[in-house]
Formats: sequence, structure tokens, C-alpha cells
Amino acid sequence: MAAAVKADGYGHGLVRVACALDADAFAVACIEEALILREAGINRRIVLLEGVFEAEELLACARHDLDIAIHHPEQLRMLELARLEQPLRVWLKIDSGMHRLGLEPDTLLTVRQRLHACPVVHTQIKLMSHLARADERDCDYTVQQLRIFETAAADFTGERSLANSAGILGWPDTHFDWVRPGIMLYGASPFVDSLAPDEDLRPVMSLQTRLIAIKRLRRGEPIGYGGTWTCPEDMDVGVAAVGYGDGYPRHAPSGTPVLINGRAAALIGRVSMDMITLDLRRHPEARIGDPVLLWGEGLPVEQIAQAAGTISYTLLCGVTARVRREVIPAPVIYG
Ligand SMILES: *Cc1c(COP(=O)(O)O)cnc(C)c1O
Repeated sequence: MAAAVKADGYGHGLVRVACALDADAFAVACIEEALILREAGINRRIVLLEGVFEAEELLACARHDLDIAIHHPEQLRMLELARLEQPLRVWLKIDSGMHRLGLEPDTLLTVRQRLHACPVVHTQIKLMSHLARADERDCDYTVQQLRIFETAAADFTGERSLANSAGILGWPDTHFDWVRPGIMLYGASPFVDSLAPDEDLRPVMSLQTRLIAIKRLRRGEPIGYGGTWTCPEDMDVGVAAVGYGDGYPRHAPSGTPVLINGRAAALIGRVSMDMITLDLRRHPEARIGDPVLLWGEGLPVEQIAQAAGTISYTLLCGVTARVRREVIPAPVIYG
């Protein structure tokens, strides 16, 4: 299993996540992320999912024992020209339908022959590809991609890898030798039509703040920038200390849920940089200092993403540096 820890461990902290996960390998997007892991003393296998962007990076890959993807003939040429102290482990990436990165399947044989002739490449080459629509359960595109991948890999004896989280949970035929989970490790559903609890996943991240003000407003008074929400009656409005400056989505509309003291309440008015405003009409017990949960345990991040017209990935990755991180050890579960 290669755990995807790119983008700062989906916003959870790259090194923190790598130390917590018992994975056979860590998958990152670029060499900068890999070197942070090596500097922190992580000595598991690390795969650069996009390989190297320039030939000089190959030296560091050899020195730090990093696996590389080869997805383009240009990268192959860099390898053929390289002089390295150690052979590199290569994951050949083919394009089975994502049409983003990947070699054309019909060039695979030639590419493999060239790699085998390359003294700086480890003899055991792996084959990988990436799924474009596995998050849609009733879509046969995944079946088509699987067929293309299997055809390309027909005479290939090395290890194979295709599944992301959606492939792992929804498409067992895509598992092969190495699965590459990302979002599911962080307790969010990869599917367009389900929430973490439906997939038996528990959120790793809870984003929480506090109520810092409670205001009594009169009927007809508008709230916040643009006055996009107007009090329909005399009512209490809560102000919580979180905004887009923390990574809370500015596009979350009025009605987006939060939990005050564990009970659902609605966002009203525009999200500002440092604050949001909340409807306290059904929260007469609310007091300044009370906890306000934006997403996490009890409030799936997918639900907030849906309301804001985005996906859980962007919300998790987008929590900004000023948000204080607290690590709470997971309870030990005895099976
Ligand atoms: C990010 C990534 C993954 C993990 O995807 P999830 O949807 O988060 O599970 C797997 N493979 C590749 C190539 C990736 O870039």
C-alpha cells in the first residue's frame, strides 16, 4: 500500500501523517515533499507520482533512494543520459483514460526495452495508471480504464498499481499489487454521493473554533459584508472566530451547517476573512467561548464541501498556517 501524503498530508501535516501511518510506501507529488520526509528520518519507500521535472533531480533521487514515476518520453531521455551512483526504482505510468499524465499504452513495449537497457534503472519496473471517474459508482469509464490497463499489462510480470481511494472502496478489480489510498486515510469519502459515515470512515481532522460574540439584532437588520442576510425577526446572532483566512470556504452560503456545543446551527451572511456569523435562534443556551465545529467528528467535511460547491480535498488541503494544530492520540481499538 502506497499512502498518498502529498499536499502536506492532505493538510494534516506531511511528517505527522507519515509518522502515524504504517504504509509500505508514501506517495508524494514532487521531490520537495520527499526530501522533507527524508530529512525527518522517514526511511520507507517514497514514490514521486509525477517523477522528476528536471534531470538534476535524478541525483537527489538516487542519493535519497526515491522511487520515480516515468510518465513521459522526456523523462525517459533524462534517465538514459543520467550517471548515477545508485539505480533508481521506476513506476511506469501509462495513460489509461485520465488523459493527463502517462505514456501511450502502445508505446509501453519500446519504453520497457529502453528502460531495461538503462544502467541507472532498477530491473524490477512497476506499472501504474490513474482512474479518472472511480468516484462515480454507476459509470463504466472505470471498467474501460481497467480493460486498457489490463491489456497493456498483459505480458508484464512486475507489480501493478491502479486504485485510488474510490477504486479501493468501489472497484475491487482495480486493486492489483499496490493500492494508493489518499482521501480515505484522512476519513473522508471519495465518492460524489456519500459521506464518511456511509463508508465507515472516521474523520481525522476536526476544524474547531469558538463563539467570540453574541449580538441581539432587530428584525430587518442586515448582517456582514454586502448585507446578504437580513434578520427576519428580533434574534441573537453568534460570531465565531474563523473565516477564509483560516481556510473556511468563502463560498459557503447561508444555511451551511456548523455545530455549536455539538448541536447543528446555520451560517448566515457572508464568510469574512476572520469571522463567520451564526443563527442562534435555536441556541438560547449558547455563550461566548462555546466551541463551534466547522467540520470533522459529527459534521462530515463532504457536507460543507457540497454546500460550498467544492470537494472535501480542497477544504482539508486549504487549512492555513495560522490555525493551531492539536494532535489527539487515537484510541487503541482491540479487535
Ligand atoms: C492523489 C493520488 C492518489 C490518491 O487519490 P485519493 O482520491 O485521495 O485516494 C492516488 N494516485 C495518484 C496518482 C494520485 O495523484
